[in-house]
Amino acid sequence: MEDCLFCKIIADEVPSTKVYEDESVYVFEDINPIAPIHYLLIPKQHICCAAKITSENSAVVGHIYEVAAKLAAEMGITDGYRIVTNCGENAGQSVFHLHFHMLAGVKMGWGKEAVQATE
Ligand code: 5GP
Ligand code: ZN
Repeated sequence: MEDCLFCKIIADEVPSTKVYEDESVYVFEDINPIAPIHYLLIPKQHICCAAKITSENSAVVGHIYEVAAKLAAEMGITDGYRIVTNCGENAGQSVFHLHFHMLAGVKMGWGKEAVQATE
């Protein structure tokens, strides 16, 4: 197995608060939430980041969006949600296993501040 935090979470070697699981996708609560609802949706297959999505492994990405829509409907999230994936250094990716942040439960801003330099 990859020496990867999220692979270890999938394998239950590192504990997590699971929200959903199927044969190809695992969803759990972010340990440091930035919104009232902050889930991480990850493929069970280790893909390091969005830049490594190919025609061979891209089907799971569509499935992840489908799972997000299903979770939102089940949870009664009718006022919207945001899905974000940080890819690489400039975007601030800190765990190198592809993951999609699902944020909800708060009205979110959008604009230049979303891409302001942090240093
Ligand atoms: P990134 O910064 O790579 O886009 O997102 C990584 C996310 O993983 C962060 O939001 C961070 O809070 C979350 N995270 C890091 N370590 C853990 C952990 O051990 N458990 C959980 N549930 N989330 C984690
Ligand atoms: Zn991994």
